[in-house]
Amino acid sequence: MYQSRIEEFEEENTARRVFLSALVLAPFEVMLPDKASGGEFPPLSESDPMAKALGYTHISDTKEKTCVNCGLYQGETGDEWGRCSIFPNKMVNASGWCKSWIASTG
Ligand code: SF4
Repeated sequence: MYQSRIEEFEEENTARRVFLSALVLAPFEVMLPDKASGGEFPPLSESDPMAKALGYTHISDTKEKTCVNCGLYQGETGDEWGRCSIFPNKMVNASGWCKSWIASTG
């Protein structure tokens, strides 16, 4: 009896976690491109206010720190443009850079 109560409690906790995760993640889904339909976001402009605030450029000053080797870059290897978690509705240049650059761990 004690064991079944623990299992019941764990099931309730799992269901609660899934529900809360869906609530937290749902607003972000509308920001993601629809890959199934081949949808992509437009390129980020260097004159975009947030891009300017973060010093974004399409071409980095150094090869050691570019979007393609940034931990926040989400593009595919070899693509000229890719998604970035800092600019969710735009594509950044793989050769670009901004002040939010962090080393990729992967
Ligand atoms: S955080 Fe900056 S450096 Fe990193 S991928 Fe995005 S735009 Fe490029």
